[in-house]
Amino acid sequence: MKAARVHELGKIVIEDVPIPELNEDDILIAVQRAGICGTDVGVVDGHVSATYPVTLGHEFSGTVAKLGNPSLTSLKEGDPVISGGGWGCGECELCHQGLGLYCKKRFSLGRNVDGCMAEFVKVDYRVVQKIPENVSFDEAQNTVNIACSMRAVKKIDLQKVKTAAVFGPGNAGLIILQLLKLGGVEKVVMAGTRDFRLEMARSFGCDAVVNVKREDPVKAILKRFPDGVDAVFESSGRADALQSAFSVVKSNGSIVVFGIISEKIKEFDPSVFYYKEPVVYGSKGASGAYGETIALLEQKKLKILPMITHRFGLDETAKAFKVFEDKISDALRIVIDVRP
Ligand SMILES: [Zn+2]
Ligand SMILES: [Zn+2]
Repeated sequence: MKAARVHELGKIVIEDVPIPELNEDDILIAVQRAGICGTDVGVVDGHVSATYPVTLGHEFSGTVAKLGNPSLTSLKEGDPVISGGGWGCGECELCHQGLGLYCKKRFSLGRNVDGCMAEFVKVDYRVVQKIPENVSFDEAQNTVNIACSMRAVKKIDLQKVKTAAVFGPGNAGLIILQLLKLGGVEKVVMAGTRDFRLEMARSFGCDAVVNVKREDPVKAILKRFPDGVDAVFESSGRADALQSAFSVVKSNGSIVVFGIISEKIKEFDPSVFYYKEPVVYGSKGASGAYGETIALLEQKKLKILPMITHRFGLDETAKAFKVFEDKISDALRIVIDVRP
């Protein structure tokens, strides 16, 4: 089968590799759509830890091709499915406590086990979920991100949130925005660098947008909300945005840090913890959020298709990554059509 793989940093090659062999706990999935995420780019350039060589990708939709042991699951060959991006070892104390997301021996697709940018991918049956009939492969390819965003949003009680700011109108930021509006947040302001994405935020119901290239986001947000906002979601991956979050959050408000910030904060005034008593949450992964996510997709509550701006065949994966990395102004969700 064909697979998009990384042997040496910075280089994606399309290779012919054997179709994975299955153990009892495995399911082989015929991949339909795979989405590119910042983590995949990190695997290519080395800022996300990985074991090479590796097949890229962890966000996808597909159909069940083969079951390692059909008696372990209600899934059948041909079922349309999605999968989580990883799973715990199942043996350590954390895994036994249901905290497999912190497992030190965690298997992560596209990082330390072969991922989904290939004709077939092998995953643990425990993380595979059937997708409803009315959800397309194009919508379902983003399920991992929706579930991760859902987990981030659920860190705080939205009943108490009237105003929110989101830094980073990327794929996840735009989903967080939609979840906040669905959850009844009255005013959401989005800060980002690309007008195309900020306009999309507006079309998804965002009440105000700030292009941080033209305006200081702290001043712009405090101009609209002089006391600050109840909740801030950092989904840009930038250290300066996290710093701004502390400036725009209301006293006793909440900050949720989504995803991986790989830069360091150079100067930080920790007295803010005394003066404002902000509550800060990290959010890693999607565990516990898949059920609600799939229900939202089934109810057509989210706008997922307008976010797909580019499509490439599996052979063109390197080109697709280049569009992602070059931060092309009108690029947002880039999808690999593994089976067009
Ligand atoms: Zn991802
Ligand atoms: Zn474990």
